[in-house]
Amino acid sequence: MSAHKNHAMQTPAPWRAPLAEPGSGFGTETTRPWPERVELAKRLARAGVLRGVRPVKPSVSMDQAMALILEAVQPLELETVSLLEAEGRVLGQDVVSPLMVPPLDCSAMDGYAVRAEDTRGAAPDCPVRLQVRGESRAGGGLEGLRVARGAAVRIMTGAPMPPGADAVVQVEETEEEHGFVRIFSAVTPWRNYRRAGESIAQGDRVLSRGERLRPADLGILASLNQAQVAVHRRPRVAVISTGDELAGLGQQARQGGIHDVNAYTLCAEVQKYGGRPQYLGIARDSLADLQALFRQALTADLVISTGGVSMGRYDFVKDIHAALGIETRFEWVDVKPGKPCVFGVQGHTLVFGLPGNPVSSLTSFIQFVRPALLRLMGARRLHKPVVEAILTEEINKRQAGKVHLLRGSFTIENSQFYVSTTGDQKASIFRSMSEANCLIVLPADRPRVAAGEKVAIQLINHDEV
Ligand code: AMP
Ligand code: MG
Repeated sequence: MSAHKNHAMQTPAPWRAPLAEPGSGFGTETTRPWPERVELAKRLARAGVLRGVRPVKPSVSMDQAMALILEAVQPLELETVSLLEAEGRVLGQDVVSPLMVPPLDCSAMDGYAVRAEDTRGAAPDCPVRLQVRGESRAGGGLEGLRVARGAAVRIMTGAPMPPGADAVVQVEETEEEHGFVRIFSAVTPWRNYRRAGESIAQGDRVLSRGERLRPADLGILASLNQAQVAVHRRPRVAVISTGDELAGLGQQARQGGIHDVNAYTLCAEVQKYGGRPQYLGIARDSLADLQALFRQALTADLVISTGGVSMGRYDFVKDIHAALGIETRFEWVDVKPGKPCVFGVQGHTLVFGLPGNPVSSLTSFIQFVRPALLRLMGARRLHKPVVEAILTEEINKRQAGKVHLLRGSFTIENSQFYVSTTGDQKASIFRSMSEANCLIVLPADRPRVAAGEKVAIQLINHDEV
């Protein structure tokens, strides 16, 4: 017997109710279990894994759902990776510079190192003439070179500044001949002069833990001679699709069947934010199939299943959660699309049961799974940016009391965002998800908005995190 079963038997969760019969008065009309589910619960009870049909939890607001998720997620442990593999990973420690960048006073231009006061009054029609005492090259030494009054040193960008010089005249303002240089333009002190440590001083905190490493950050680490960096481990994410109607790609869909869409959108999303997706395949709407795949999935850091979490006769996913000792934190969210959305925890594994509908599952992923994934990766910024936009059409949702997330397309004109919907908002029209570049967020108390009014839009297709 597996540890999961033991767990379920020994510590029955308080929210597990005794067995209920259909029509026995259990729950409300909408929460009354279908006979198949009662039958399933009885079988699970006989097998010793469940005490009865689960009571249905009340729905939570989006904010409550987010809070319940974040409360349950801890960043994964650290590992050391090479800079070449670190892009997109989240820094596990602050980075304090052990050295100065640049390491020494040097030139910002190709030209001549001079004493600024020697160039006073220099102009194209009355150049100043200075004696060239030698050359300072990038990567070279000074070998006793100095700049005394009336002298100059030829110098390249990044080359060490010779003592005595306090500025560089760029080569375009000069002409060298027979050991002398004519300067056509005066410079002030410290012009074209890079001081040691002006970019990064020793002891500076240059990067903070929780930052997602971008190419420029890797450049900073390279400038500090750090070939490796401590980042949070990438989460392993198991993805399961459920449904008797689903066919894998390359397979012929049965009559009335469709191809599995969710696994492909969700694996790509997981990958995009740094997780390691593992697609476990399609579970049929049967106890044996679901249990087998969920057991396998529970070794991951995060499990995402789609389908089978609503009120349908064959929606068994929540029963399987209960059977495997996954503690439910919420199961309905006041949002459309995506009301059926289960979140539970088993040991260190986070388990999301998203609705089957591809629009709903992707929308729910963006709202709930993505922040959990980012937090597992150690990130501090978890939410998509939200900006204000002028709505170019009227929206009228009759259902107040829940947040609506509409697929939208925004444009920017004269620094102003404008947004329209991508058309029919039926959750079954997935094409509109592919056409959308934002989600229009209508709060629960504002289901109707006139054209020309401002709305909040969540930018979903930007590279930001
Ligand atoms: P369910 O939540 O299981 O009732 O599924 C809701 C709707 O989404 C049904 O029309 C399913 O056929 C569809 N669906 C479920 N899973 C997938 C999937 N992986 N790919 C495409 N459509 C799906
Ligand atoms: Mg289904």
